[in-house]
Amino acid sequence: MVTINPDKIKAYALKNAVEHEGKCQASSVLSPLFNEGLKKENVKEIMPKINEIVSKVNKLSLEEQKKELDKLEKFLSHRVVRDINEMPELEDVPKTGVIMRISPSASASRFHIGHIFTGMPSCLYVKKYGGKFYLRIEDTNPEKTSPECYDSFPKEAEWIFGNITSGYAQSDRMQKYYDFIEDLIKKNLAFVCTCQKEEEEGEESIPQPRKICDCRKNSVKDNQDKWQKMLDKKGFKPGEAVLRFKSKDVNNNNPALIDFPLARINLTSHPRQGKKYRVWPLMNLCVTYDDIEQKCTHIIRGKEHADNAKRQEMIFEALKIKLPHTYFLGRYKFTDLEISKTKIGERIKKGEFSGWDDIRLPLARNFKRRGYQPEAFAKMVKQRGLSEVDKVMAKEDLFQVLDNFNRELIKELAIKVSFEQNKKGKIEILMPDAQIIKGNSDLDSKKLKEGQIIYFSGLGYAGYNPQEKIKFWFCHK
Ligand SMILES: [Zn+2]
Repeated sequence: MVTINPDKIKAYALKNAVEHEGKCQASSVLSPLFNEGLKKENVKEIMPKINEIVSKVNKLSLEEQKKELDKLEKFLSHRVVRDINEMPELEDVPKTGVIMRISPSASASRFHIGHIFTGMPSCLYVKKYGGKFYLRIEDTNPEKTSPECYDSFPKEAEWIFGNITSGYAQSDRMQKYYDFIEDLIKKNLAFVCTCQKEEEEGEESIPQPRKICDCRKNSVKDNQDKWQKMLDKKGFKPGEAVLRFKSKDVNNNNPALIDFPLARINLTSHPRQGKKYRVWPLMNLCVTYDDIEQKCTHIIRGKEHADNAKRQEMIFEALKIKLPHTYFLGRYKFTDLEISKTKIGERIKKGEFSGWDDIRLPLARNFKRRGYQPEAFAKMVKQRGLSEVDKVMAKEDLFQVLDNFNRELIKELAIKVSFEQNKKGKIEILMPDAQIIKGNSDLDSKKLKEGQIIYFSGLGYAGYNPQEKIKFWFCHK
C-alpha cells in the first residue's frame, strides 16, 4: 500500500511545471517521491494517480500554477528557490489591489537608505497588485520633528518609489485623532492616568515597566472630564496626566504592552502647527487610526517595531476590527555607513562631509545625483524578499551590489565619454553638460590616480583608467 499524500505529488508536479514553462513531466515527479518514501515496487500502483495530477496541473496557466505552488510549497522537502526577480506573493490579496503605506518619522529630515529599503517592498507590491500607496509623515512628536521633512519626504518618495497615491502629515489631522480618542474613552478602552509623573515616553523610548495603577478603574464619565482637562489650557500641566490604553490582559509578560500611553501633554512649539495643540497623540494611536481609516490591507515594517505592532494589534482587537496582514523585515545593518541624522550632523560640523548634499552620504537625494536608478534598489530588495533576518553589510558591499544592478540598468542609456588631454596636461571633458560633483574639477592628469572615481551630477560616475587612454564611461540622462 502506498502512502504518499496527493498534495505532495501535486506540489512536485507544480514545481516541475513552473520550472518548465508550465509543462510538467510525470517522470520528473516520480524521482523526488523516492526521497519521500516511495518504493520501486509501488511505482506501478501510484503511476495512475501521478498521471492524473500531472494532467490537471498541465491544464492550468503558468500564473495559476505559481499561485497553487505558493499554497502547496510546504509539502516540498526542499523549498522551491524563489525567483529573485519577484517578491513572494502576499496573503489574501483583494481583487481591488492592496492598500499599503510608508510612514517615515519626521525626526529624520531626508530619506536615507533605511527608508528606501523599508519602503521599497510595499512600493513593489502596490505596483504588482495595484491599489493604493500612502506616504504618511509621522510628526506628532513636536520635539522630534524636522521642518525640512515636509518638503523633502514627498519629493524623495516620488523619485524612489514613483507610485505614491497621496501623502500627508499626521499633525494636519489632529481633530481626527482627538475624535478617535474620545471614541476609545467612550468605549472604556482608554483612561486618563494622573497618579504618576509621566516619564519620557516619546516615540522611540520604550515605556518602563510600571505598576498597574488605580486610574484604570476610573469611570467613563471621569475619563471624559479628565480628557477635557488635558485639552484645557487651565487644566492639567505637562506630566500631570497621560492618556493610556486600557489593556485587556494586565498579566502580560511584557510590561511594555500593559496600559501603554496613547497621548500626552507637550507644550513644545511644533514646527508646522506652532502652539495650536497642547495634547499630542503618540505614534501607536495615530498609526492605528490611519490604518483603520485607510483600510490598509497589508503592512510591511521593520522588525524593530514588533512591540509597537503588538500594541496596535491590541487596539484593533479591542475595537473588533480585522487586522491588516503584517510582515516584518530584518534590518540592514551597515557596519561603516552612518545614517543617524545627529551623527551625520556632527560629522558635517567637523568638516568630514561638505554638507548634506555631500554625495558620500547615503541619502536618497545624493543617490539620485550620483546617477543611481530607483530600480537598482528595487532589485536589491527583490533579491532579499521578505526576510526577517538582519543583513549585515559593509559600505563597500552595498555599493558593489548597487553598482552591478545600476550598470546593468543604464547599459542601454549610457553614453561613453572620452576625455582628451590638452597641451597643459589637463583633461578636457568632451561632454559639455557633464558637471563634476566630486573630484578634481580641473582634471589634472598628473593628479588623477588610477582607479579614481569622478562623479557627474545626475549622470553617474566614471573610473580613471590611463591604460584605456583616459576613457570615461557610465554617463546617462
Ligand atoms: Zn494612574
